[in-house]
Formats: sequence, C-alpha cells, structure tokens
Amino acid sequence: IVDAHVVYVPVSKHRLLVMVLLYDITELKEIERMQLDFVSNVSHELKTPITAITGFSETLLQGAMEDKKALAEFLAIIHKESLKLTDLVEDILSLARIDANTELNLKEINLREYLTELLKTFKPQLEKKKIKVFLEITETAVVSMDQNKLRHVIDNLIQNAIKYNNFQGKVWVSGTLTETSWSISVRDNGYGISQDKQERIFERFYRIDTSRSRDNGGTGLGLSVVKEYVAAMNGEISLESQVGVGSKFTVKFPIGLNAQKKIL
Ligand code: ADP
Repeated sequence: IVDAHVVYVPVSKHRLLVMVLLYDITELKEIERMQLDFVSNVSHELKTPITAITGFSETLLQGAMEDKKALAEFLAIIHKESLKLTDLVEDILSLARIDANTELNLKEINLREYLTELLKTFKPQLEKKKIKVFLEITETAVVSMDQNKLRHVIDNLIQNAIKYNNFQGKVWVSGTLTETSWSISVRDNGYGISQDKQERIFERFYRIDTSRSRDNGGTGLGLSVVKEYVAAMNGEISLESQVGVGSKFTVKFPIGLNAQKKIL
C-alpha cells in the first residue's frame, strides 16, 4: 500500500520542480487493521458475559427469584460469567502492560525452587481433575530472570496443560540448561493440537474448540500474552504436538543476554 504526496518547489521564474514522494504504508495499515480487529474482538468477547449477567439478573429481579431452583441456577450462571469477565479483563490488562513496559526486572532465581513453589499453587486444580505433575530438572541452575514475566508464562502453559487434558492425565515440567541457553518445557498427554492449528493458537482470541475452551474458562488470549512475554524476555517459544497424544510447549532463553548461568 502506497501513500503519495506531491510537492511543488519553484526553483526559478520559469522552472517548477515537482517532487512525488511515495511512502510504503503497508506496515502502518496492517497495524491499524490489527488494532481495529483487536478492539472489535474485545468488545464482542466482553459483550457475551455482560449480556448473560444483565439478562439473568434482570429475570431474577422481575420475579424469577421466588423460584428457589431458578434462583440457584441463574446465580450459578451469573457467577460463572463474572469469573470469565475477570479472566478476560486480566488478559487484556496483561497485554496492555507488556505493550507499555517491556523492561526486564532481573533477579537471580534457582529454577528448581522456583518451579517447585509455582507447582504448589496448582494443587486444587490438579486434584480436581486427578492430574499428576512431574518436575524434571537435571541440574541445579540459577538464572537471572524477570520472575513476574516468567511466572506469567509458565503459569499459563501449566493452566492449559491441565485444562486441555483428560481426567487423570499427566503433566511434566522440565528445566534444561545448556552452554548457551536454558529452557523450560511443559508437556501433557492431553488432547493435542493438529499441525495446521499449531501456529494459529498463538493469535489473539484464537481457540480451537470454542465451546470447549469457553467451558474451561478460556479467553483465547492466554498464548498470545505468553508469546509477547517470551519475546520481551528475548526468548523463543516452540510447540510439538499430536492430536490424541499430547503437547509440549518449550520456552527457551539465551544465556548472557538476559540470564547468567551458575551451576551450584
Ligand atoms: P484459552 O484461553 O482458550 O485457553 P489460549 O491462548 O491459552 O486460550 O490457547 C488457545 C487455544 O489453544 C485453546 O483454546 C486450546 O484450544 C489450544 N491449546 C492451548 N494449550 C493447549 C494444550 N496444552 N493442549 C491442547 N490444546 C491447547
């Protein structure tokens, strides 16, 4: 896409210089389009739970709350939709935060201790689906990292490994250290993702099975936030997956650029 400007410069009494300036605005237009898409997606996603909350609460106020069964049923829906709204707003705020603040707040962390602590917070969710989690770290590594950003990333990957997994499924969290990089992988033996969707799942609002993801409280924003956080940490994210077998998400960071390796 090209934008053109014509500039007339009189160089003498009888001569006029005509300059045509051509600007390539393809990228600008693309950003503009993405921003518009984002706003329209956000409004759509926010409207769905808001409409449900407004509708069901109005019905209750108009008399349905006299009926005990309807009261319990409608309140449960209102509660579920408000939780969805909370998740959505949190994800949108995370995206806004990463846009505004890409600075790293580095601190030395022991990977094993860090992941052990993180895994403890998943206990209720793991127990609910009777999912077993295994932590695999070969070396004790201390890496200099932005704890909050890393937490956001690993938290999201583990949440998904639980959400898109079967009852009594398994999740493996592993930390690996090489001479030039360190990485964390989150693997599950859950639903898996077909080859053609593996790139798309990192797009904002993309969900493979909308109804299943919604039932699981999914917003479709999680992995796009993860991708941006990983990029802000100078890292890369990769995925290996097979439908019906499981998925493995790996985030890899270079040593030296933003992380210092130290073997204990
Ligand atoms: P959501 O909020 O829907 O979970 P995400 O951006 O985190 O959004 O993920 C996008 C989609 O990718 C999900 O809706 C789900 O279909 C798929 N997905 C993500 N993680 C996994 C996984 N570990 N196993 C299978 N599918 C997954």
